[in-house]
Amino acid sequence: MGCRRGQTLTFIAQPDTDAVAGLEQIIDAVQQGLGEEVEAVDLVSHQHSSSDPVVNTLELMPFESHGDTGSCGIAASTGLAFGPAHVVKPREFSYERRGQSFKAENEKLEIALHQVKNSLRQFIAHTESTAIKQIFMAHLEMLDDPDLLQSVQRGLKQGLSAAAAWHDHIEVAATAQAALSDRLLAERAADLRDIGERVLAALCGVADVTEPEQPYILIMHDVGPSDVARLNKDRVAGILTAVGGASAHSAIVARALAIPAVVGAGVAVLNIENHATVLINGDTGEYVVSPEQNQIDHAIAERQRQRELREQAEQHCLEPAITLDQHQVEIAANIGKVGATIQAVADGAEAIGLLRTELVFMSHSSAPDEATQEADYRVVLDALAGRPLVVRTLDVGGDKPLPYLPIEKEENPFLGLRGIRLTLRKPELLRQQLVALLKAADNRPLRIMFPMIGRVEEWRAAKAILDEVRIQHPCENLQVGIMIEVPAAALLAPILAQEVDFFSIGTNDLTQYTLAIDRGHPLLSAEADGLHPSILLLIDQTVRAAHQHGKWVGICGELAADPKAVPVLIGLGVDELSMSSTSIPLVKAQIRGLNYINCKQVAQQALSCDSASAVRALVE
Ligand code: PEP
Ligand code: MG
Repeated sequence: MGCRRGQTLTFIAQPDTDAVAGLEQIIDAVQQGLGEEVEAVDLVSHQHSSSDPVVNTLELMPFESHGDTGSCGIAASTGLAFGPAHVVKPREFSYERRGQSFKAENEKLEIALHQVKNSLRQFIAHTESTAIKQIFMAHLEMLDDPDLLQSVQRGLKQGLSAAAAWHDHIEVAATAQAALSDRLLAERAADLRDIGERVLAALCGVADVTEPEQPYILIMHDVGPSDVARLNKDRVAGILTAVGGASAHSAIVARALAIPAVVGAGVAVLNIENHATVLINGDTGEYVVSPEQNQIDHAIAERQRQRELREQAEQHCLEPAITLDQHQVEIAANIGKVGATIQAVADGAEAIGLLRTELVFMSHSSAPDEATQEADYRVVLDALAGRPLVVRTLDVGGDKPLPYLPIEKEENPFLGLRGIRLTLRKPELLRQQLVALLKAADNRPLRIMFPMIGRVEEWRAAKAILDEVRIQHPCENLQVGIMIEVPAAALLAPILAQEVDFFSIGTNDLTQYTLAIDRGHPLLSAEADGLHPSILLLIDQTVRAAHQHGKWVGICGELAADPKAVPVLIGLGVDELSMSSTSIPLVKAQIRGLNYINCKQVAQQALSCDSASAVRALVE
């Protein structure tokens, strides 16, 4: 069913049928673990396990073009790396399809499984990274699955060899997994194939590939988690893969090990000659084969410069971000976990500019009630100690399903029941969240905003609910605004600005909807650049409208921390930039070196550029 640990299942039966009696038995059976040993979910402390997105915090280093030797994939793990290519192509396994006997083949299978499980236990014992431990523990669980063993044994009973039965079963299971509509679950097919290959190698007596002596760039079709963790992290300078997305486990492992990585660069990377020097940029997704010496020198110098810049910036992160000509920009943090507030403040956040409450909801295995929500919001406000909190009401839907708030399957979820469209259809849910927020505020500075507003009616309907709630729960220091994520809202900003207290521009979605590119698309998402002039024109229009009515504007999409975007956004008059807190020290440092007057000029020129790359070149 694709269910994950901690999710709530709802069973429904047709009234007046035998099924009603069966319901109880089904629920009992599920609670007992359907024949498997299960550990009860701790309802209070169960944590959402998804990893934080990669955030680009360092200044980007463009590569000079060298004919067709360089290209681009998806930036998956930050940093620059170069070294000899170590191309690991899929291994060939040869085995007989027919087995000797059930007993003999079953014995081979058990020995291979035993070997692989032992080596997984060794990885778990030796790795320091919790992310890697968790992945390998999941692999161990997969190998311990009695269904898996039984299915393979069925093949053995039909006369197949252990290798053939194992391979057939893994292929069928991985194909089914890859077809799941949940992208994260589908990407777990790579984990199945990863353990599948490991056991097959043990069955066929194929040795692991030996790694070169010096730090190298690992090039593979897709790097399985155990491939990365097995390799000596001091030797793997960087990773380049043909396929894969930034949320694949290989990328998570690379990030956990702080190995720069570019993924999804196309199968051509497998033709790169072993030992050829390869230079990769995990911030831009670019890679160059056989770079010139000056490019390598540049990379070394750049890497050193980035390290020094970060160290210096961190020393001044608690100071304000004021340009050389005394223009101050508020710098805030985006968070999705209430406990992250303390770190955000320590990183220099002057406010929380975006609390993604759907992520707070996801940390609970069932819908948090009003009191639970109030307690969560208090954690943030307490840690902020008087600094403002900008909260976004639930933004569920699109690529963010909430297990206990099921939405009918939609053809185009990004164009479907998302954000305010969903909560306006479940007003009780919205009302409850607003009450919890107002009660938690205790007159501390609270700013509430509604996501995905596309029509003025939506804003007014949401605001009416808030006004009603405020009667019973007055709140002194409250501002109410909307997110500008839909082009329609930006175009109607002159009207909306008369009614809202502020706008916060969500450039991730604004870019997706303006350019009509799915933000998670494996091939196209790199073209969804928020510095496209069309998006800048929408931001410009929004800021002008807001300022005309004395309202403030923030940016809370990833663009806010993009070093090329910072001068343009400031030049367009944006008042607040909100970002992942790790980006704050560097963005503040960058602003302190800028001149507001120059930023304004650059921003005006950017508005008449014809492409995002032209804007980037202009800023450069
Ligand atoms: C955005 O769309 O820019 C935004 C900040 O919201 P999210 O990324 O959570 O959709
Ligand atoms: Mg958004």
